[in-house]
Amino acid sequence: MLTSTLCDANRRLTAALQYVKISADAAERLKAPKASLIVAIPVRMDDGSLRIFQGYRVRYDDTRGPTKGGIRFHPDVNLDQVQSLAFWMTFKCAALNLPLGGAKGGITVNPKELSRLELERLSRGYIDAIADFIGADVDIPAPDMYTNAMIMGWMVDQYSIIARRLSPAVITGKPLSLGGSQGRETATARGAFYVLEAMMARSGRLPQHTTVALQGFGNAGSMLARLLFEAGYRVVAVSDSQGGIFLPQGLDIPSIQAFKASSRSLKAVYCEGSVCHLSQAHALISNAELLSLEVDILIPAALENQITADNASQIKARHIFEVANGPITAAADAILDARGIQVFPDILVNAGGVTVSYFEWIQNRNGLYWSIEDVHRRLKTMMVTEADQIWQRAETLKISLRTAAYVHALERLGQALDAKGTREYYTNGI
Ligand code: GLU
Repeated sequence: MLTSTLCDANRRLTAALQYVKISADAAERLKAPKASLIVAIPVRMDDGSLRIFQGYRVRYDDTRGPTKGGIRFHPDVNLDQVQSLAFWMTFKCAALNLPLGGAKGGITVNPKELSRLELERLSRGYIDAIADFIGADVDIPAPDMYTNAMIMGWMVDQYSIIARRLSPAVITGKPLSLGGSQGRETATARGAFYVLEAMMARSGRLPQHTTVALQGFGNAGSMLARLLFEAGYRVVAVSDSQGGIFLPQGLDIPSIQAFKASSRSLKAVYCEGSVCHLSQAHALISNAELLSLEVDILIPAALENQITADNASQIKARHIFEVANGPITAAADAILDARGIQVFPDILVNAGGVTVSYFEWIQNRNGLYWSIEDVHRRLKTMMVTEADQIWQRAETLKISLRTAAYVHALERLGQALDAKGTREYYTNGI
């Protein structure tokens, strides 16, 4: 039985199916996850008590290779959400032509409420619980929301303890010292930046005449804000889960990053001539207000389901780049399309993270490590090549970039599924 977010995700599949010739078997296979694991993770808390956390790992489809996807630590994590995220990973890996399937994992927890030691015990406990479900040739986790390289380091260590051998390729997004890849930390932002720059080159717009509002100041959001700022874009608004700041003349992103790192809140210094001011309360806006700002580019880089049928008609941006997974619902897509707002879909825009994860996995298996320049060059080539092909499909078929991205991925998935044997093959008695 499909539940709500996964149902919504499946609507994108249905839309794409009209434009690609794959067997009915293959289409059917992609509608539900291959395996979903729910685990209870007992954790000894610092005060001596025992708490049980609920964890998940979903392997959606492994036709094109071992499944791949991050691990999220968030209070909203639930099975439906993890299954949807695993669905998106399947299409994301296929859209980028990575020889990987899709997966996702998560724990229902607010990590900000845990001590460092509790967080480590929870991370190791999660690996204890899912160790038989993952593996370098089976399913390869990575960071996602509120998880990072340090947590991946604990996890890969725990897996190696269980397996009684070093197994760096089982998890990506590790610290460099444990076999991580150069450039993994900034990969999602950088991948999105390459796609955005490709769009700008096509339109002939100049960065200094382009305003950007960005929702979410986590890993991907803050690093993308930095890249855009350095390239000369006018980033006028950013927000985190507490709220946002808005300055029409453009925010000084490096100072916001510094404030956020030291005080955990969003404040900015902006300069006029030689005078610099700390932005004050007058510039505060809510997350909802940020989404409806009149900007050239809106970048949701936080949670899923942010732009829905309820607020889609208030969006004033000309282009939306989905750095978050699933920030726009299928119902909102239709409204945005009708209003001529161009959406660059998540399965393309945020694929830089998993692409460099794939590079990390290759490096671990080869034992040969690449320079940062190599990582950037290969990432750019892959992002721009696939983005161009998706763009061309959208123009030829006169469909949205989202549907084109799904068509692009579905063709590859369909071919792989069909190559394993279809109903037509058996009934024709060849
Ligand atoms: N969590 C990231 C995503 O949603 C990266 C997954 C990975 O590197 O495997 O794409």
